[in-house]
Amino acid sequence: MAERYVLQMEGRTQYDFIDKGEFDTYEKCYDAADRIAAGPDYKDEDFRIVEPDTGFKQRLSAHLFQQEECPECRKTVSHHRMCRTYDCHGIPFRFVCHSCYEKIMDGKGYDGEYYTEADERIDSDY
Ligand SMILES: [Zn+2]
Repeated sequence: MAERYVLQMEGRTQYDFIDKGEFDTYEKCYDAADRIAAGPDYKDEDFRIVEPDTGFKQRLSAHLFQQEECPECRKTVSHHRMCRTYDCHGIPFRFVCHSCYEKIMDGKGYDGEYYTEADERIDSDY
């Protein structure tokens, strides 16, 4: 039996949820919520993902869908698509979108230079 997930959005009250579509994966519910949140009619409503077969319900807070601009590629994405990058000392640096996060953390150091073993060594002069 195929799994079903229903995306719902908060209606007039916080107890009144409206069906926004049925999907076969959890991720597709998130994608659909992103599209709604990027639209002009979205006003910070919470979302909910419901699995009718199991009764599972998960509320997704509106702040996850706040539209933010990635400082790297200037694309506007939902907050939950942003990742916090870390510099080479593990200090939280800034939020970027998932695709930039992979580019930055995979091979490159925080300063845009390629990350090498030399970056790992702590110079005793400092
Ligand atoms: Zn980006």
